[in-house]
Amino acid sequence: MSASLAAVRIDRVIAEIEQLSHFSDAAAPAVTRVLYTPTDMAARRYLQELALAANFEWHTDAIGNSFIRWPGNRPDLPAVATGSHMDAVPFSGKYDGVVGVLGGLEALRMLRERGFVPQRTLELIIFTAEEPTRFGLGCIGSRLLSGAIDLAALQALRDADGTSFEEARRAAGFNGDLGSVRLSHGLYHAFVELHIEQGPVLESKGIAIGIVTGVAASTTAQITLEGRGGHAGTVPMDSRDDPLVGAAELILATEQMALKSGADAVATVGKLAVHPGASNSIPRLVQLSLDVRHTDEVMRDDMVRQLTQTTATIAQQRRLVHSFQIVNSDPSLRCSSLVVGAVEAAAEKWALPVLKLVSRAYHDTVFMGAICPVGMIFIPCRHGYSHRPEEYASPEAIAAGVQVLADSLAELAGGIQP
Ligand SMILES: [Zn+2]
Repeated sequence: MSASLAAVRIDRVIAEIEQLSHFSDAAAPAVTRVLYTPTDMAARRYLQELALAANFEWHTDAIGNSFIRWPGNRPDLPAVATGSHMDAVPFSGKYDGVVGVLGGLEALRMLRERGFVPQRTLELIIFTAEEPTRFGLGCIGSRLLSGAIDLAALQALRDADGTSFEEARRAAGFNGDLGSVRLSHGLYHAFVELHIEQGPVLESKGIAIGIVTGVAASTTAQITLEGRGGHAGTVPMDSRDDPLVGAAELILATEQMALKSGADAVATVGKLAVHPGASNSIPRLVQLSLDVRHTDEVMRDDMVRQLTQTTATIAQQRRLVHSFQIVNSDPSLRCSSLVVGAVEAAAEKWALPVLKLVSRAYHDTVFMGAICPVGMIFIPCRHGYSHRPEEYASPEAIAAGVQVLADSLAELAGGIQP
């Protein structure tokens, strides 16, 4: 670690990351921490203890979004916030989201220990349910904060056991009015999230700080292709209408279309269900999932339109009944020059190499972007591994991220430097 970054008490952060990883429903080193489970609730209490021990204010809303607050000396001005999530997909690692939460806490603590007095209030937000594990929809907390999901749609979500979101949050002890979660434009001056890259670019280029300039727009869709099925031995090849062969054609067409749409485009079929799924039956029904992402929302919409058309054409040629249903479509995000500039200046101050990049993974920052100027700081993680137990970010990488976050927050909040 560079001596100049010694202000970050990295041993304290690493010890807390280790401690938090023990709140898990999987055996170490894997971490499983799913929304509103007793494990999730215990992890939240641990974080609350850390915040109160550091003499910050703690506040929780009606779905468990938590706010650690350090009042500034101009509480009339919009606040500056950082934050991330603590939920972890099954059998994942210790760092996804957690680096932004415990690193964010450390940024606030070190600023105060250095004698900084903020003008704007500083906040650390811990978002509820960034991962879609339990209810199939990611970023529930930040969607509701920013008004990106309506209350009826949220209450109707059900988990695999049939428990509704409403029942689950009440069972976890969150009983407040859901309508009170929504935050207004103008409440925040800026929001910046620290996160591991979850990809290999920064590590492979030896870059300490990734400055996110935008987040790709994504669409998920569910496609079904239906034929008549039949006996694999008795139905002649020229009188079949096999939906799995149609699906194979569609998957190849999806890959070709994404490859032709440039380096910013990706498209994936990640799930395939075949009915009846017997080796001696011609398939009758095939369901495919589709995930399309592009940094440009218009290009993403165009890719989805093309795939809708391709699906219809394949179905017609193969005498199949088809449906193409968009499950979710989110906007792209352009990060604010205010926040990007603050992060750039902070990295420059510590002579840290930076790379500007676009994120094709989703983060709560996307939804915070609907109510205030936002940005993100990425740090390298080993081999780009994420959502698996081998996920790892070095103490040096985390210290650099926390330092840049702290200086960015200080710049954005304004105040008295000692
Ligand atoms: Zn994350």
